[in-house]
Order: sequence, then structure tokens, then C-alpha cells
Amino acid sequence: MRYRGREVGGESGVHLVMESTLTARDRVGVQDFVLLENYTSEAAFIENLRRRFGEKLIYTYIGSVLVSVNPYKDLEIYSKAHMERYRGVSFYEISPHIYAVSDNTYRAMRTERRDQCILISGESGAGKTEASKKILQYYATTCPVTDHMSTLRDRLLQSNPVLEAFGNAKTLRNDNSSRFGKYMDVQFDFRGAPIGGHILNYLLEKSRVVHQNHGERNFHIFYQLLEGGEQDQLSKLGLERNAQKYHYLVKGCCPRVSSINDKNDWKTVRKALTVIGFHEEEVEDLLNIIASVLHLGNTQFGEGEDGETQITTEPQLKYLSKLLGVDGEALREALTHKKLTAKGEEMISPLSFEQAVAARDALAKAVYGRAFTWLVAKINQSLAFKDEVYNSSKGSSSVIGLLDIYGFEVFQHNSFEQFCINYCNEKLQQLFIKLTLKSEQEEYEAEGITWEPVKYFDNKIICDLVEEKHKGFISILDEECLRPGEPSDISFLEKLEDTLGGHAHFVTHKLANGKTRKAVGREEFRLIHYAGEVNYTVNGFLDKNNDLLYRNLKEVICQSDNQILSQCFHKEEVTDQKRPETAATQFKNSLAKLIEILMSKEPSYVRCIKPNDAKQSGRFDEALVRHQVKYLGLMENLRVRRAGFAYRRRYEAFLQRYKSLCPGTWPNWHGILADGVATLVQHLGYKPEEYKLGKTKIFIRFPKTLFTTEDALEA
Ligand code: ATP
Ligand code: MG
Repeated sequence: MRYRGREVGGESGVHLVMESTLTARDRVGVQDFVLLENYTSEAAFIENLRRRFGEKLIYTYIGSVLVSVNPYKDLEIYSKAHMERYRGVSFYEISPHIYAVSDNTYRAMRTERRDQCILISGESGAGKTEASKKILQYYATTCPVTDHMSTLRDRLLQSNPVLEAFGNAKTLRNDNSSRFGKYMDVQFDFRGAPIGGHILNYLLEKSRVVHQNHGERNFHIFYQLLEGGEQDQLSKLGLERNAQKYHYLVKGCCPRVSSINDKNDWKTVRKALTVIGFHEEEVEDLLNIIASVLHLGNTQFGEGEDGETQITTEPQLKYLSKLLGVDGEALREALTHKKLTAKGEEMISPLSFEQAVAARDALAKAVYGRAFTWLVAKINQSLAFKDEVYNSSKGSSSVIGLLDIYGFEVFQHNSFEQFCINYCNEKLQQLFIKLTLKSEQEEYEAEGITWEPVKYFDNKIICDLVEEKHKGFISILDEECLRPGEPSDISFLEKLEDTLGGHAHFVTHKLANGKTRKAVGREEFRLIHYAGEVNYTVNGFLDKNNDLLYRNLKEVICQSDNQILSQCFHKEEVTDQKRPETAATQFKNSLAKLIEILMSKEPSYVRCIKPNDAKQSGRFDEALVRHQVKYLGLMENLRVRRAGFAYRRRYEAFLQRYKSLCPGTWPNWHGILADGVATLVQHLGYKPEEYKLGKTKIFIRFPKTLFTTEDALEA
């Protein structure tokens, strides 16, 4: 048997329809999981992925969801010629590709005039950021542009190296790991040309500024500056060209990474800053902040004559005062003392050594974190849709949103950050359930086909556990943070037990019968997430949630001459009696807004999978993949998709493809399309339970039916 749909290496230009014949299916698997005969079998699912991966076919669909396996090497499937191949071509007419998703989304936006979004998920190193960049490149290359718009297009593309320099870092899992969540809107005018962009950022992992685990680095920008900065620039900043000299850069003992060229990356970032429209003074202020963080890391404390904590590194203090644009003595005082208000009176009390170190680190994190937020705001200004330039397109623009956000995380030790990340994934799963089921249901309704509801696990119960008012996890955490007395992580854990004990998705070491559960430590709690069980260590939850910077340090920074810092630290913060929102509540609120944004759009999904932990090409670790298939909910996704009909196709496309199989429809059918399809399938011997005819599409229940028809074409 010959096979028609060539897709080898994803490189052939052949417009593949479907690897439907036996030979092709055996070798490269099916390009859409809905066509898997044994669709409930996880083993069959993984085998299909493995086969395709072996043939360098990294993309496979589940209906319209794109599953992508990181190849860890350049596959030469992203050229301009490849982009052209996907332009205006329907999903099923060509091999699965990130460009097919990009193009279909774009066309849906244009034809339906409806805002779209592409949700990219997967674990660290699975290829989310690369996927989002490929989508953006696709639009930048294939969308119409005028001169005005070419500036915007360049800025959109250049925002990536800048955000990656400041927000990405080398971790054990990924040499270029995004340490923040990102949602980017690209706005298009009525001609389909990009006219604006906007970025929302989520929860930067600030703790990395002062600490990195073994084998990991701080954010790229620090190493880039030291490697690539000009000598006189470094001298001005008081820096040496040697990352080893900076405490904040060597906690992970890995200042150099073979896959990273910091010097070249620095050049790229500098150029990108110019393209985006940063003024020289702004760049200078930004670099002053970067350098000040390094000097903070090298600021040491010791004991004075009277046992008081004092700064022992005077040169650092001098640079800090210059770079942060603040009074040196005020800074010295604020790094070693704290201001308290008791009974309406202000009191200054000295800090212990540990407290001073913590205050210093808190300052470094706050300064870096807020500078990052400023950076995003600045990029947004430069990407903003400018009415006066494009007033011709007023009022008729549409948006495609790209979400590149951290996937579900389970480490050996899981803390506040993993809690937030996994909560975020619960929310996205909830959205996925709502939207996938909703859209399936809507399609059946629109086509007038009876729909049988599908059973699935609704993770709303876990979302409620986390976010419910008064008795949810975050409320309990906030309450404990605010409680007078001496709240601690352990007292928080006790509160959790009191309130959530007995909940089906919350577990501690205590068993109902008074005995101890060994699998959960005494300072841990376990959440049963939709994707699996995770033990969290409670240590650090209160501090991380409070995210406090001593008031007197804030006061000093508020006076800064550095324009960026003065925009980031407002005087009202110091005078305002209201307590700032806690980190968890801020995150919860920003997630709620994100979900609202996504709900208002038509979603497409890209599910990224990492094939091995060694960042190696050609290696497919089945156990690792199985784990991801599980927590990405892919089997469930497939089940929902298959619950009704495995396959659906518009009448004209179906007739066009199979008309030659029936004398009644060959060479052309001139009547009503649905009648033509009915004639065709009757001739082919389809049984009534195998298919349904909707208003515009035929729905086929089992893949086998379609394969038989495909094979008939070959005969
Ligand atoms: P994180 O959550 O840590 O940010 P991520 O999912 O964004 O991870 P990426 O940074 O996109 O992961 O990918 C990790 C690395 O894998 C890339 O730096 C690149 O080397 C490789 N990679 C990812 N996707 C592709 C691809 N389509 N082709 C070739 N290499 C890829
Ligand atoms: Mg990333």
C-alpha cells in the first residue's frame, strides 16, 4: 500500500492531508490523536508521540489543540518558505505545526472579527517561550505592514530579548528559563496589520536575585553586563568584569554556561533597548539599578564596639549611594536600623546581624522586582497603539493574546512559589475545562446534533480550596500574616489544619485516627492537585507572602534621584497607613483578571512536552513524557474530544476529497452539499450510528470509518 501524506522530518512541502494508510500510520503515527483507534490508552498515546518524535515530527493535534515535543535542536522547519506554506491553509490540510495554529488563529480573528488567544503551557524547558516567539515571528513575517507599522513590528520582536535578559535565568531545567509569567496582546487593524501590543507580567521569582540553587544562575542581565559592558561603563558603575566577585552571582557556583554567550547577548539587548525607544538616561538609570544590586550583595555587616550591627564595606556603601541616588548616611542608618511606631511614637531600634542581612536582601529584591515592572511598563508605552498614527483603523481592531506561563511544578522541596504556580495552573485548567467543553457543546448545538454530556473531573473544588473568601487557603494565610502576636509558619500550618482538615484535597501529617501519616512531614502540607499530589514545606510562607521592606528603607529609596526608582517607590507608600496587599492576594487578583481577559477571547491551545531531562536531542524518556501527558490533562482532553465524534469536516471539504468514490458525486455534485455527502456516505456503506450530518459539517464517530474511506481512495 502506497502512502500519500508525506510528512517526513516535517520538512516536505507536500500538503499532507492525513497519514491515513497503514504503512504511514505504522511509521509516523497519526497526526491527530482523535484518530487513534485505542484513544483511552495512555500507552497508545505515548507510542504515537514517540513514533512521531523519532521521525522528527514534533507536532501532533488533539482536535485543534497542538501538542509539541521539544526537539532540542534546530529542525529547519521555521523558514520563511515554511511560513508561506501555512498561509491561508486549513488546519487539516497540512501537517501539524505551530504556524498552522498561528495562521488559523489569525484567520479566525479576521473572518469572525473575534479576539483570540493562544494558551501555551508545559513544564519548564518544554518549549513554551520558543513557541510564543515562533508565533510572533510568524505574524511579523506574514502580516501586511506599512512603514509606520514596521517600527511597531520591530519593537514587538525586540521586546523578547529585553524581557528575557531581565526575567530569564539558567536553571537546572532550562538554560533560558522564564522566571515570570507573560501574557502579551498583539493588536491588529482591520487590514490585519499589527498596530499595537501590550504585556502583562506575573510573579517574577525575585528570590533568585539574592539566592540561586546549586547549578543555577541569577537573571541573565547581570552576567551580560559584566561580560559585555564597555570598560569605562563598568568603571563608572564600580564593577569588575568578573562575576565571581559578586556574592549574588555565585550562589549556584555556575557563572558560566556553555550554551550562553553573555557578551553577544549583551549587544543584542543594548540594541533592542534602542529599538524599543529607551533614552540613554533611562538605560543609565537601569544599569545603575543592576549595579546597585550587585553592590548590595557585596555589602557586609559586622559588629561595632558596642556590639551593634554595622556595615563593614565602606566602598560598597559609597557606590550604593551614588547608584541608587540616595543619601549615603541615611542608607547606612536604614540598612542597620528599623523604625517602629508604638503608641503613636516613632522609635528607632538597631537590627541584629541576621535582620540586617534580611533587610539588605529585601531591598535588593524590591529594587530589582520593581525595576522589572517598570521595564514592562516602559515596553508597553512603546508598543501602545498610537491613535494619531493609525487613526484610519480606529475602532476596528482585534487582538490575539499569547500566554506563556509557568507549568505545573513539583520539586523535591516545594515552597510558596510552587504553590502560586500550581494554583495558577488550577485556574487555567478550570478555564480549559469550561472553554473546551463549552465549545464542543456549542458546536454540536450549532450543528443541530444531540450532545451527550461527558464526565470529567472538575477542579473547581481545588480552586475554591485555595481562594474562597474567609476559609480558603489564601485567606487563612493573609489572616495569619496580619495577626498580632507572633504568627509563624507553624502557627499558620495549625490554622490550615483547623480550617481545611478533612477536605478531600488537603492533607497534613495528622491522620483522623490520631496517628501520623509518614508521607507528609511535620512542617509540610499536601495539596491534591488535578495534576497530582504535591507536598509543600510551610517554611517561608509568611515572609514571602508579606514581602515586606522596612519602612525606613522605603523612605530612603523614595528620595532617590534615579528616575526609575522614584517612579517605582512612591512617597504615599510610606505615609499610607493601609497595609499593602500580600503577595498571594496580589497574585490571586491578577490571575482573576487574566482569566477574565482569556474568557473574553476565543482560545487555542499549545501543550508543550519535554522529552528528557538532559536537554538532549533525539532522546524520548517515556516515563517523563507519561508524567506530563497526565498533568497536562491530555488524555482527558482527548476523551472529551472523542466523547462525541472523533472527526468532523465541512461538507465541501469532505465532498471534494471523497467525491471520486461515488458515481453519484463524481465528477461534481451540483445539488445541496448535505445531500451530496448523504449520497456519498450511503454509497460507502456508512452505518447510521457511525456518523451524523449537521448543518454544515459531517461528524464521524470512529476513526476507523474514516480510515476505511481513506484507504478506498488509495485502492
Ligand atoms: P520555562 O518554563 O523554563 O521558561 P520554556 O517552556 O519556556 O521553559 P523554552 O525556553 O521555550 O522552554 O525552551 C527551552 C529550550 O529548548 C530552548 O532554549 C531551545 O534550546 C529548546 N527548544 C524549545 N523549543 C524548540 C524548538 N521548537 N526547536 C528547537 N529547539 C527548541
Ligand atoms: Mg519560558
